[in-house]
Amino acid sequence: MSAGAPCGVAEAVAALRAGQVIGLPTETVYGLAGDAANAEAVARIFALKRRPPDHPLIVHLGDAAQLDDWARVVPAAARTLAARYWPGPLTLVLPRAARVPDAVTGGQDTVALRMPAHPLARAVLAAFGGALAAPSANRFGRISPTRAEHVRAEFGDAVPCVLDGGPCAVGIESTIVDLSAGAPRILRPGAITRAMLERTLGGPLAAGVADDAPRVSGSLPAHYAPRTPLALLDAPALRRRRGEDGTLLLTHSLTVDAARGLRLPGDAAGYARALYAALRELDARGARVILAERVPDTPAWAGVRDRLTRAATGAGRSGAN
Ligand code: AMP
Ligand code: MG
Repeated sequence: MSAGAPCGVAEAVAALRAGQVIGLPTETVYGLAGDAANAEAVARIFALKRRPPDHPLIVHLGDAAQLDDWARVVPAAARTLAARYWPGPLTLVLPRAARVPDAVTGGQDTVALRMPAHPLARAVLAAFGGALAAPSANRFGRISPTRAEHVRAEFGDAVPCVLDGGPCAVGIESTIVDLSAGAPRILRPGAITRAMLERTLGGPLAAGVADDAPRVSGSLPAHYAPRTPLALLDAPALRRRRGEDGTLLLTHSLTVDAARGLRLPGDAAGYARALYAALRELDARGARVILAERVPDTPAWAGVRDRLTRAATGAGRSGAN
């Protein structure tokens, strides 16, 4: 099968059974999926992404009943969250079961589990029967894919089977909650917000976001990054600089000419859905710098703020992956 040839569920499942890796649409972003129980398939994912081996993968389940196959301990809070938000954009970090290959967990004693909602992901998981390790289908550190053509552009013939499930409905990666020790803690913000989780659990999560609260400025990891430098500015500063040569704007409140940039929706969900495709499009235009408007510092925008901040940190680094 050559890149661009149509790939259906049956071919995708055959490829997975053979230890191959496929492009899989989910409601968050497209994943690079392989059999989570097959260490060779998992090694292929790391090699294709050029991902450091200590960076663990999320295991995708077709059925919430599989929680007990992949986690050694499932606290009541994890069952409550799974019952409420699965299938959906929520990942639970739990103590790993013995069957989880070391490669999946980056050598940690925990495993990250999620049940995706996208109908094609569910169809593949149901037909495959097992679980799928699936990080975002991009080279490490780069912009996550939210359309099948993004995956094809990134991997070409190296990933011949890319299922086309249309544009992702959520558009940013899942919320990750650590339930492996102590009070539940958010490791990565996403569409399912702290307020939603606290309401469901009937109590507060641990304060802060483990990944999102750098103690030293500049220590934020670079991720989700375009090759073009990206600067974050408030609307007034953006307005002052918008005529500058070699700049492109990414805004959600200002009017912008199509040739000068993009305006994304003013609500967090709409913005998240459009963000990665917008970053890819602006990056391809080859500007000197992308000037991105800061988004509101409110809980609903936490996931988008996290991705934009990381994109700004990693942008423009040659060869960053
Ligand atoms: P991605 O697959 O690109 O969405 O990234 C997966 C992310 O899930 C990693 O960057 C980790 O932050 C997180 N993750 C996966 N497994 C674990 C784990 N066992 N413990 C903590 N975080 C995890
Ligand atoms: Mg990723």
